[in-house]
Amino acid sequence: MTGLSESNSGSRVPKNTSGPGSRDPNARLLIWRLFLAAFLTISSLFVHYFGSQGVSTPGLLGSLGLLYTTITVCWAAYLAGAPRHLLLSIQLGSDTLCIGLLVHFSGGPFSAFPLMFMVPIMLGAYYRDARWSMAIAGTSAILVGGGHFGLAIGWLLTGQAASLDYLQGWPVFVTALHMAVFLVTGMISGGLARRLAERRQEQTHSHFLAQKARWEVRNILDNIQSGLITVNRKGVITRVNPSACRILQLDPAKLLKQDIRGVMAEGMQELTDIILPVASGAEVVSRGEIHIHRGGVRMPLGLNVNHVTTPGGRIIGAITIFTDLTREKEMSARIRESDRLAAIGELAAGIAHEIRNPLASIRGSVEILAGELELEGYQNQLLGLVLKESARVNTIINDFLAYSRMPAATKSSFNGQEFRDQISLQIRQHVAAKDGRVRVVCEVEPPDMMIVADPGQLTQMTLNLAINACQAMAYEGDLRIGLNLVGGGENFELVVTDNGPGIDPDIREHLFSPFKTTKDEGTGLGLSIVARIASAHGGNVRAEDNPGQGAIFRVRWPLDRQLLETVNDPLPVG
Ligand code: ADP
Repeated sequence: MTGLSESNSGSRVPKNTSGPGSRDPNARLLIWRLFLAAFLTISSLFVHYFGSQGVSTPGLLGSLGLLYTTITVCWAAYLAGAPRHLLLSIQLGSDTLCIGLLVHFSGGPFSAFPLMFMVPIMLGAYYRDARWSMAIAGTSAILVGGGHFGLAIGWLLTGQAASLDYLQGWPVFVTALHMAVFLVTGMISGGLARRLAERRQEQTHSHFLAQKARWEVRNILDNIQSGLITVNRKGVITRVNPSACRILQLDPAKLLKQDIRGVMAEGMQELTDIILPVASGAEVVSRGEIHIHRGGVRMPLGLNVNHVTTPGGRIIGAITIFTDLTREKEMSARIRESDRLAAIGELAAGIAHEIRNPLASIRGSVEILAGELELEGYQNQLLGLVLKESARVNTIINDFLAYSRMPAATKSSFNGQEFRDQISLQIRQHVAAKDGRVRVVCEVEPPDMMIVADPGQLTQMTLNLAINACQAMAYEGDLRIGLNLVGGGENFELVVTDNGPGIDPDIREHLFSPFKTTKDEGTGLGLSIVARIASAHGGNVRAEDNPGQGAIFRVRWPLDRQLLETVNDPLPVG
């Protein structure tokens, strides 16, 4: 389905514009001209038998012949697809000329035909415009007046002798009257034509606006994520949008013009029960929540059901807008779960904190006992185990508290070289304490760089990554620590590289989740602390494989220029 479906949206087939009787004005004009020709032929018979002064039968026959010839030629040109406006002009012009000839050969000023000029004048106004109506009126006046004058002075041969009788009062008055009537008719029909054109233009404009508004509404309804269904009072679905079909997992053809009770009988009864009463005039439903069953899944829907009314306010159905709330529900369940976990974490942190003090007393007491009692063999081993394990518990508690009670980053600006010197000293001391042989290279680029970060948290993050690297290399290998300005000077980057065995694929996906470790004595909290510190600085951390061998950890965080310019603290001693 690609668009809003409506039960009353039967497509309008444009009418055939290619034959007489169709909307093409040329075709209609041709039909008019046939009537006109028939009328003029019958009238000419009357003139032939009953006409008196100045009638020329051959002239009449010739004029009628010319009229029929132009009709035939124009018809052929129309069928051959001649240019529309040109053909209209030729038809109107040839009619005027033929009527002029008929007038002339049926007695000139004494002819009964001059009134026939009204036909092309009005047709000109109707099918062309005001200018054409006036032009035909002017031509008619000239033909009548000129013909009359020509007869009077004997210039034109009509089979009658030239006569100055034509200049007498009555015929002159009749001709002048005809001329005036033509001009007035031309003006009136021209004015009407102008009004008609304006109305047509207004109509076209309002039609365009209505069409545009319809398309806009349709476009909105097609593209909204909410489903839309309208039903009439009988419960027949009159309109659905694509989202409704998607949410309800139904084909538009199965919904449109169908009774809602039938299509929604399976698993969507609740929806029907809420829509139908509103369609019959019951209270509207706003922010309702129901459940439907689709594909074996229970789906929560949020919905509003309103009345559809006539402009007079009579209720003729209901419009329902609904959304699938599955994701929102899942999200709030997840938030509830994380709130619950946060509460548990807080509790656990409290307990850990409480354990730390008695643990310190136990460790202290055991250390004193170990010094005073000179135990040997198995007993000495047991005491050593107590000390080792209590040290391990202490590490776990410290890491856990560092992770769960991480304070917000308090950023300041400090000298990069000083930081480098301090951190490399700490790492070297750690390596020495472990009897390791790790070559430590620590670089700051650019060398005169000022760092903006929480100094304590940056130290902890760097140590965590460096100690992990040393442990991965079993305290033998190359450790590189780099602190750089990257991204056009907009970001800091801490890069810790080692040439150990690389990251274990089993843990890669959960590397930064708490308590994930591959080490026997690990807590799995070191990298979670790094990730927390990175995010507290508005940045992130990612792990990569070192192309040669080993792992690379990159922490990036944005440079806070304001702090860089205003604060310049000496590096706190870590
Ligand atoms: P822990 O060090 O207590 O195991 P971490 O969160 O610091 O906890 O590390 C989690 C795991 O990530 C480690 O157990 C190890 O498998 C892996 N890891 C961390 N750093 C490296 C590294 N430089 N090389 C290889 N694996 C690493």
